[in-house]
Amino acid sequence: MAGQWLSVTDINFKCQILALGVVAIIIYDFIRSKRLPLRSTRLFGFFLAMGAFNLVTDIVTYYTLLNYKLVPPVLNRVLHILFIGSIELMPAILFLYVFYLYGIRKSFRKWQVALFVIPFILAAVGSVIAPIYYHVDEHGAYSYGPMVYIMYASIAVYIVCVYALLLCKSKKHYHSDVIADYRKGRITVAVGLGIWIAVALIQFITKYILISSMGISLMLLYIYLSFENPKRYADEETDTLNRRAFHIMIPEMLARSGKFWLLNFTIDDNEQISKSMGYDQMKVILRTVAERLKTAVPGARFYHSRSNTLSMFVTDREEVDALLKRAGSANFDIEYGAGAFTPQYHITVMECPKYGETPDEIYDTLDYTLTHHHHHENGKVFWIDENTIKDKNYRKQVLAVLTKSVNDRAFNVVYQPIYSTAEKRFASAEALVRLQDCGKLGFISPEIFIPIAEQQGMIAEIGSIVFEKVCSFAAENRLWEKGIRYIEVNLSGMQSVDPSLPAQLSSVMQKYGIDPKFINLEITETASIDGGELLDMNMKRLRSLGCHFSMDDFGTGYSNLAQMAKVRFELVKLDKSLIWPAFGENPEEPMVILNSCIAMILQLGSHIVAEGVETKEQAQFLAEHGVHYLQGYFYSKPVPGEVFLEKLSAQISC
Ligand code: C2E
Ligand code: CA
Ligand code: CA
Repeated sequence: MAGQWLSVTDINFKCQILALGVVAIIIYDFIRSKRLPLRSTRLFGFFLAMGAFNLVTDIVTYYTLLNYKLVPPVLNRVLHILFIGSIELMPAILFLYVFYLYGIRKSFRKWQVALFVIPFILAAVGSVIAPIYYHVDEHGAYSYGPMVYIMYASIAVYIVCVYALLLCKSKKHYHSDVIADYRKGRITVAVGLGIWIAVALIQFITKYILISSMGISLMLLYIYLSFENPKRYADEETDTLNRRAFHIMIPEMLARSGKFWLLNFTIDDNEQISKSMGYDQMKVILRTVAERLKTAVPGARFYHSRSNTLSMFVTDREEVDALLKRAGSANFDIEYGAGAFTPQYHITVMECPKYGETPDEIYDTLDYTLTHHHHHENGKVFWIDENTIKDKNYRKQVLAVLTKSVNDRAFNVVYQPIYSTAEKRFASAEALVRLQDCGKLGFISPEIFIPIAEQQGMIAEIGSIVFEKVCSFAAENRLWEKGIRYIEVNLSGMQSVDPSLPAQLSSVMQKYGIDPKFINLEITETASIDGGELLDMNMKRLRSLGCHFSMDDFGTGYSNLAQMAKVRFELVKLDKSLIWPAFGENPEEPMVILNSCIAMILQLGSHIVAEGVETKEQAQFLAEHGVHYLQGYFYSKPVPGEVFLEKLSAQISC
């Protein structure tokens, strides 16, 4: 069959129907997907609706124009007003859309509202009163005249405004996810609008071919696919919204005036689950927990805000209580193997902007609470309050002091003498690090700054500063000639598995001429269990040099006896929590435990140091039961080097 040329009218209709079909598909997909409740996204929805309305009026107007003799002129005019009015509205909506992208801006000022509304009012009035002319011939139809020119002018004004707005940079500091997305959004709008302008120009030149509808649908398609597609915010792992969505929602929520509550559901034992059941199983558990939460709180939007955390925003205080009740009563038992497994979790609630006025403050507090409230009982709800913020700020200040002190090597070392029950004198000492802030923080306990230093990767540096100070002090004062047989130096868990540790310690000992036998390295019970092969290797290499090892804080960890027997520490340090209760109010059971521990360690062939000896009664009891060394305030608090030397001279002269 011979081919037949399509008429211009046919092409125009087909283009318009195709464009409408494309927009209909976008609208369908947009409605079905899980969208973010952003003002800009709502505006995009409105933009889509306006696009669809414009395409429908375009088709109808073109049809009535071609059949102008059959329809009353007033109908043609009304249809043109609707068609032209909706076209004029589109760049105006786009302007608002860019304005509200991610709450980067809060609200309009009065002059901005005027600037925004005046061109539209002029255009609307113009559309109603200005004349319009129609041209219809055998090639097709088009309209022209003042009403059309007003439309072009109004569109041009808004397009210029949109591009001007796109060039404005936000001065505020946002999360990198938001900044990257915001940039992408602006580029997308610039290109999308460019596509429409290019198509409109072609239409302007070739009057008969009506492709402006194509331009609109291409612009909508482009913005939808590359930026407004809700799938960009979908979290595959948990079937919730992803972390980027969370970071985008925070400034948006803050930009809306009014309170909101951030609820965070955190799984506490995620690391243990990964270790014991594997990472894949951890993911299954997280997904199941998300499903259960979604069932318990239907219709809620959950965000996978941190690796082990699902968050949600609530704008009503009463709803918070209701949600907590529902989430609290949800069943989190998860089938595993033949039985069931229940992950440990806690919930944090943060009222904003009361406890977080900026995105950074919110992330800071969130990260702080997520890492510091593991130990809460399962299912506990933790309300963030002034004290949380104070603690968090204190930690931040400590971190600043720590960073400066590491750079200036400004740590001090104090020595706590250790009493030998056999020799009845101080035979060793434990070196303990001290940090003093000349500013308002004053003395900062190692219990506070050591864990922070570990988290921030500064512990190796601090460890090496302490070790160098100890070696230099011991060498300078030839401590071995003053009755000291060894010095105890603490190793943090991270240091003890650092493969470069033996070489590093060995070079410092060589530098100061310290016999490695003079060094006893303390490793906590927990670190010795978690250390694995790396720790074994380090201990082997350091032992071959001559160093000895103490198991610190025995009785505070899981007391893995098999591990203890295997590693064989030369010394075991009984923690004060094992000793004090045996001399407290109900001493019977604690005394049995203390006696059994002493007997067991002695049988394994290690020597014992009792920590936290504070009374004569404790000292006597422990000495009588075969404990070799006693350390505690009863003998001496940790003291500066020179005081320690005085104590040593005093005992020599006794
Ligand atoms: P630790 O290794 O168990 O050190 C013993 C802690 O108990 C010291 O606290 C000491 O002052 C305290 N203490 C000693 N005798 C008594 C007593 O009779 N009664 C009471 N109530 N306390 C006593 P300090 O110096 O505050 O150190 C706390 C922890 O910080 C240490 O516990 C250790 O885990 C860590 N640490 C201290 N210095 C260092 C270091 O140089 N490196 C590393 N990695 N950790 C260190
Ligand atoms: Ca210690
Ligand atoms: Ca200890």
